[in-house]
Amino acid sequence: MSNNAAEKTNNGYRGPGLAVLDKHGVGVWSDVEVKTTGGKFRGIILPRSETSDDKHIVLKICSGYNIGLAAETIELMTEHGSRKANYQIAEQEFPIEPGKPNVVLFGTGGTIASRLDYRSGAVIPAFSPGELYGSVPELADYCNLRTEELFSVFSENMGPEQYVELAKNIAQAIEYGADGIVVGHGTDTMHHTAAILTFMVQNPPVPIVLVGSQRSSDRPSSDAALNLICAIKTAAESDIAEVVVCMFGPTSDQYCLIHRGTRVRKMHSSYRSTFRTLGDVPLAMIDPKSITMFREEYRKRDPKRQMIINTNYSDEVTLLYYYPGMKPDVLEAMIETGYRGIVIAGTGLGHVNKPTYRALKLAQERGVHVYMTVQTLWGFAGMYVYETGREMMKLGVVPLANMLPEVAFMKLSWALGQSDDLEEVKSIMLKTIGDEITLREPYNGYLLYQGAVPEVQEFLKSIKR
Ligand code: ASP
Repeated sequence: MSNNAAEKTNNGYRGPGLAVLDKHGVGVWSDVEVKTTGGKFRGIILPRSETSDDKHIVLKICSGYNIGLAAETIELMTEHGSRKANYQIAEQEFPIEPGKPNVVLFGTGGTIASRLDYRSGAVIPAFSPGELYGSVPELADYCNLRTEELFSVFSENMGPEQYVELAKNIAQAIEYGADGIVVGHGTDTMHHTAAILTFMVQNPPVPIVLVGSQRSSDRPSSDAALNLICAIKTAAESDIAEVVVCMFGPTSDQYCLIHRGTRVRKMHSSYRSTFRTLGDVPLAMIDPKSITMFREEYRKRDPKRQMIINTNYSDEVTLLYYYPGMKPDVLEAMIETGYRGIVIAGTGLGHVNKPTYRALKLAQERGVHVYMTVQTLWGFAGMYVYETGREMMKLGVVPLANMLPEVAFMKLSWALGQSDDLEEVKSIMLKTIGDEITLREPYNGYLLYQGAVPEVQEFLKSIKR
């Protein structure tokens, strides 16, 4: 990073990027033809974020995609005019119709909270009901919408403080009569937030739906609008009164899947169909016109149901992903640092190597809560199968059946917020609140649930009871 505070910048351009713009007498929003050593391109020069590198310029080409061109490859830039971004979304008043369900949309940030202007590619916050209505007018078909921006962070910055505030706001909105809640969230840690909300806001009388978008809306392939429409429809019209994630289902723009908050995981860094239910089947599929349930057992909407809000949380919990050759000092360091709870994602049925047992013994002596989950994600921890598993259990390690590692991490953080007693915490961890442990996996689920189309659809139809 440059420590030259006086470095000249222009709309995020600096160094070689800025130099090449200056050299050819063009700037941000110029409509240019660019001749590079790799060919010719035509497009609009977009601003760059201050944290991007200084060696590229970014061009929005006519397909709508943005491309980066290395400054050193640029031979000539010819300006054909200029098209400045319109940072303002046409605000339209969100129509309020008595009789329509009232939905509250809380924003936490992530890609879904912003809209990129189609022509310019500039990031524009789109959050008020009027802005959302201007961008996705279909939303008004389903509900009366109120929006509230709680945070504006990428989801790696969500943490205990945000979870508690979000849970409290959701509870309050429900108490004030919301018929459904939607939470706009970055996709990267959406499954963590879905899990913790399941524990913090129990027995909700109405749906609590997390939604995001994997691709920003300046891309022709953006999933933002479909995801938002389906999430709003889920909150307004479905009778699933649980914490769920509603995101893009198959690889093309057909429908979204509704996943239970404790069984869902982001499984691909860039696919739109990144969220998958693991160890179970999704609750339902939804498109702008219909909702098809895949499961009959779920908590139904009931405005009279009493919620239980419990936002106690301990940040003295950690998640250890075991790797072969791990030395006991890693676990020992966690214990010495003062972590009270450790979730291990072990190999296979839930294993760590022999040298680690020394650290497990230390954990046991210090009363640290140690739980085992599986790196395979599908399947159950089976610590009775091998002698080593039994040995670990003697050292105090508690297997967590088919609870996903991140869900176990969130649940242990929540459980240690309630008690530090080993037995009490164990009984909280093993008592299922929202299907974080299930009795069995669906027949053939693992073979078919890796996102393939059309096999997934066929499978879903076949298991619909
Ligand atoms: N990095 C972003 C986030 O999780 C990605 C997204 O919004 O989808 O906040």
